Amino acid sequence: MHICVIGAGVIGLTAAYFLQSEGHNVTIIERDNGVGQGASAANGAQLSYAFVAPLADASVPPRLPSLFLTRDSPLKLHFRADPVQWRWAVEFLRHANVADARATTAGLLKLAELSREFIEPLIEGEGIDCHFTRGGKLVVYPDVRSLASAQAQVLYQSGLGTKQTVLTRAECIAQEPALEPYEERIAGGVWTGSDAAADCGEFCAQLAQRIVQRGGDLQLNRTVRGFDVEPRAGESAVRALITDQGSLRADAYLLAAGIGARELGASAGLMLPIYPLKGYSITVKPVGAMAPLQASITDARRKVVFAPLGDRVRVAGFVEIGATDNSIPPARISALLDAAREVLGYSVIDGDVRPWAGQRPATPSGRPIIGRTPMTNLYLSVGHGALGWTLAAGSARLICDAVAGRAPTIDVRPYLYRLN
Ligand SMILES: Cc1cc2nc3c(=O)[nH]c(=O)nc-3n(C[C@H](O)[C@H](O)[C@H](O)COP(=O)(O)OP(=O)(O)OC[C@H]3O[C@@H](n4cnc5c(N)ncnc54)[C@H](O)[C@@H]3O)c2cc1C
Repeated sequence: MHICVIGAGVIGLTAAYFLQSEGHNVTIIERDNGVGQGASAANGAQLSYAFVAPLADASVPPRLPSLFLTRDSPLKLHFRADPVQWRWAVEFLRHANVADARATTAGLLKLAELSREFIEPLIEGEGIDCHFTRGGKLVVYPDVRSLASAQAQVLYQSGLGTKQTVLTRAECIAQEPALEPYEERIAGGVWTGSDAAADCGEFCAQLAQRIVQRGGDLQLNRTVRGFDVEPRAGESAVRALITDQGSLRADAYLLAAGIGARELGASAGLMLPIYPLKGYSITVKPVGAMAPLQASITDARRKVVFAPLGDRVRVAGFVEIGATDNSIPPARISALLDAAREVLGYSVIDGDVRPWAGQRPATPSGRPIIGRTPMTNLYLSVGHGALGWTLAAGSARLICDAVAGRAPTIDVRPYLYRLN
C-alpha cells in the first residue's frame, strides 16, 4: 500500500520505518523544515521501560494546591478560558485514582516491553549513532515517605514481571557514584538495570535518512490542514489529505502529529483528548563532576531527569499545563542548571547549555491512542505524553499489525480510539 504518515516526530518516523520494512510505500508529511523538531527534539532521552506510571495518580488530587501554588513547583497550570483545557483537566482528575493508574501502568509496561524488543535491534542494526547506552535507571527519593510509596509501586510491578531493586542511600551512591554530591539529600532509590538512554532527536534525523535512502518520500515544509472524508454507508474513508500545497491521496493514512493531532482528528470527526504539557531541557558538558554519569537518574524531589549522551548530559523537567508556545523563561533554565549543580556536583558548566522547550502530546489517562479508527483507511498513533521515545517502537509495531490485519502481540484494547 501507499501509506501517508502525518508528522515526522519519533512516533511517525518509527511507524514509517516499520511500515516500509513490511513492504509499504511511505510518504511522510511534516510542517517543519526538518524532522524530529517537535516534542522529540531534546526530550529527557530516557528509554524508561519500567517507569511508565501515569501522571494522573491518586497522589495528585491532595497535592494540587501545593503543586500549583508553590513558586518553583515542577507542575504548573496556566489557567485559560479554554473549554478544551477544562475538559482535559476534569478527565485527568477522573483518572487520578489507584485503580486507573494501576491499569494504565500494567498496559504501558507491555507496550514498553514490546518497544524495547524492537528499538534496540533497530538502533544497532541500522547503525544509528544516537549515544544509546543501556546503563540502567535510578530514581532517587528525598524522604522515607516517598521511598515507601515507591517501594509499594515496585512490589506491584514485580507482580507484572518488572525487575527492580529498592536501594538504601549508600547503595544508590555505590550504584551511581556520580550522585555522591547529592548523598545527604536522598533517602534511597529504585534501580532498574534494563532501562536505557539515547538521543531521540538524533535518532529521528538518522532514521529519516534511512527511510529516504530506501525510497520513502519525505515532504518537509508541508502542512496538513485536514482530511477529506468520503461518507459511505456503514464505514466512511479518507479520500485525500488537504494540505497547504494541494491535496494528497494515498491508500491509507497514519495520524502521528503530536500536539497537532487533536485539531486534525477533529477535521475527520474524531475527538482526540490531547493537550500539550510543556517541559524544558538543557544539554550540558559537565565540568567539575566527581564521576561521569553512567545511568539515567530521576530526582523525584524536583521531578528532573538526567541522562548521559556521549560527553554531554541531558537535564529535563517541568510540566506546564496550558503553555501554548515554546518560549523559554530564563528561570526554568536556571532551575535545571541548579539541579545539575546540586545533584551531580557540576561546579562549572560551560556557556553552551542548549536550552530547549517542547510540548508533550498528553491524554488525560496517560494512555496513547493507537490503531484503527471508524474510517477504514485512517490509523492513529497519538497522545504518547511523557513516554513517546520509550513507546515509539511498540506503537509502530501495533500500527503494522493493524494495517496488516494481524493479531497483535499484546492486548491493544487500552489504546483503541473508542476507549479513550
Ligand atoms: C521536557 C520533555 C522531556 C521528555 N522526556 C522523555 C523521556 O525521557 N522519555 C520518553 O520516552 N519521552 C519523553 N518525552 C516525551 C516525548 O518526547 C514525546 O512523547 C514524543 O516526542 C512525542 O512524539 P510525537 O512524534 O508524537 O510528537 P512530535 O515529536 O511533536 O512530532 C509530531 C510532528 O507532527 C508535526 N505536525 C503537527 N501538526 C502537523 C500538521 N498539521 N501538518 C504537518 N505536520 C504536523 C509536528 O511539526 C511534529 O514534527 C519528553 C517530552 C518533553 C517535552
